[in-house]
Amino acid sequence: MTVKQYKIVFLGDSSVGKTSLIARFMYDTFDANYQPTVGIDFLSKTVAVDDRTIKLHLWDTAGQERFRALIPSYLRDAAAAVVLYDITNRASFDHIEKWVDDVRSERGSDCTVMIVGAKSDLSPSRVVSVSEGQQKAQDLETLWSEASAKSGEHVKTLFRKVALSLPFDR
Ligand code: GDP
Ligand code: MG
Repeated sequence: MTVKQYKIVFLGDSSVGKTSLIARFMYDTFDANYQPTVGIDFLSKTVAVDDRTIKLHLWDTAGQERFRALIPSYLRDAAAAVVLYDITNRASFDHIEKWVDDVRSERGSDCTVMIVGAKSDLSPSRVVSVSEGQQKAQDLETLWSEASAKSGEHVKTLFRKVALSLPFDR
């Protein structure tokens, strides 16, 4: 039996928490020290989703402008894109639409898109409300979740939601 493989790309401004979300999912760890991602990294994990086993290739990207030119080529065969904003950073939320546009212009509707409000443990200092996040997802016709790489809250369910949305031919 061959295990079906899917490429999932993580997008969003610098420091929103892309690398940390991936690290929590992959290794169940969290590092409070910021290590900027240079260029693009990828990691793979085989997961069981209900009765199927699939392999996820997680593509971490750097949000810096100088790497943006690379993004279309990395989106080319993506099955899903996870676009993050930081719930304590309004600008990162304002840029969500631009990131989702990048995905849609490269992949049309062939790619699941999920918007994630990251750092939900910082809720006391949030500047983006839950309902604003949900509304944005509704407007852009994407999935949505908040999550915390620090506490782990909603991280597993978020990946599960993405995995369940992937096309599967039996
Ligand atoms: P990236 O540039 O999008 O990859 O962001 P990083 O994952 O490198 O995270 C940027 C900074 O935010 C780091 O200092 C992380 O420790 C911190 N961070 C990431 N996720 C969370 C989170 O869920 N909660 C909190 N409190 N801090 C986080
Ligand atoms: Mg990073």
